[in-house]
Amino acid sequence: MTASSSLSALLTALPDGLGKALPVATACAVIEQCIYPIAETEGVALRQALGRVLARDIISPIDVPPHDNSAMDGWAVRASDLNATAQTRLMPVGTALAGQAYAGSVQPGQTVRIMTGAVMPDGCDTVVIQEVARQDGASILIPPGQSAGQNRRLRGEDLTAGLPALVAGRSLGPADLGLLASIGVAEVPVQRRLRVAFFSTGSELRSLGQPLDPGCIYDSNRYTLHGLLSRLGVELIDMGVVTDSPEALEAAMRTASEQADAVISSGGVSVGEADYTRAVMNRLGEVAFWTIAMRPGRPMAFGRIANAWYFGLPGNPVAVMITFLFFVRDALIRLSGASPRPVLPLRVRSLAPLRKRPGRTEYQRATVEVGPDGLLQAHITGNQGSGVLRSMSQANALIVLHHDQGDVAAGDWVDAIGFEGLI
Ligand code: AMP
Ligand code: MG
Repeated sequence: MTASSSLSALLTALPDGLGKALPVATACAVIEQCIYPIAETEGVALRQALGRVLARDIISPIDVPPHDNSAMDGWAVRASDLNATAQTRLMPVGTALAGQAYAGSVQPGQTVRIMTGAVMPDGCDTVVIQEVARQDGASILIPPGQSAGQNRRLRGEDLTAGLPALVAGRSLGPADLGLLASIGVAEVPVQRRLRVAFFSTGSELRSLGQPLDPGCIYDSNRYTLHGLLSRLGVELIDMGVVTDSPEALEAAMRTASEQADAVISSGGVSVGEADYTRAVMNRLGEVAFWTIAMRPGRPMAFGRIANAWYFGLPGNPVAVMITFLFFVRDALIRLSGASPRPVLPLRVRSLAPLRKRPGRTEYQRATVEVGPDGLLQAHITGNQGSGVLRSMSQANALIVLHHDQGDVAAGDWVDAIGFEGLI
């Protein structure tokens, strides 16, 4: 979807503001339908491609491995020479080393000493490991029980010339760098990095290094967001703290949306503050203010301002992280041209009873560990208030209590998401 008319159609089709709360899945689906990847690409040196998004399919120009070769140190033989039930006597005629093939053709009754990675000599199809072969005078004795083709790696068994080695949209990991090197790719076509601007709103917020005036608190969200965004490998545009005034917000939003593909703010979207935020955003672009049926995280804004997607996250520090995980992270990954990899769900046993009201999704912060019976168990990390960032800092997982789910008894199995390395 690219036309902004369809964006407004999508946004207005949904309950807005204080209307009926949106289920988490609906909000995710709307964002997913709106977002389309940036188009610009660039070429980077292979080492610089880690974490970048591949911009087009890479077709392998060669077979990997380029020739049949030995998987072990031993003796290259012709399987048709081997006796199935008795030992076989073969005559060694030479050696094949990695990078130094045996030049001749191996005839019936002959064998070649071979090392791991060495090209299979012409005529041989099987390798007998050196540990089972025996030297007897000038000849080599091979015990029975070998199977044809054993210990041989086939040409092209890893990658085949003419077929895609990697497909566009892949976020390149360490194995992919090695894979690209294995087919001789030195420069990699990648999507350009996303530019993401972010700021905190709130007149009570002070940045590090400023005195903490009475009634004020340090801005923590901008630092959390810095960490969350850094893990995604985007270009960061940190716009600092914006005070609660329409003028300041409008100026920040204009600057941010001129420079970035996505703008993330925290605070200013809850009931008491949404009105002026809404007025500013509606002057600048198309933004919907949602109440999401989740805890923590209820209020959130989503839309488009100039060329940037806008995510207005709640102010509470835990809500920032959770709304980022469920709504922003995948959206940024999509925007960058990659496909989000599914988060692997866990089933864990809750050690404590959990209160849960049906009709909203709740995320409880927990430490998940292997219990004495070898199965996963979860402890809640203390006070679950949406302002208690310690609950997140101590946790390695979120227990997901689904929309329609009710109370959980101690010992019940619940769904969870491990977030180590994810957020
Ligand atoms: P708001 O959504 O702006 O009403 O903020 C909700 C709560 O989160 C208030 O207690 C704010 O003081 C707090 N809060 C908002 N932004 C931040 C921030 N950047 N760092 C720490 N706390 C914040
Ligand atoms: Mg505020």
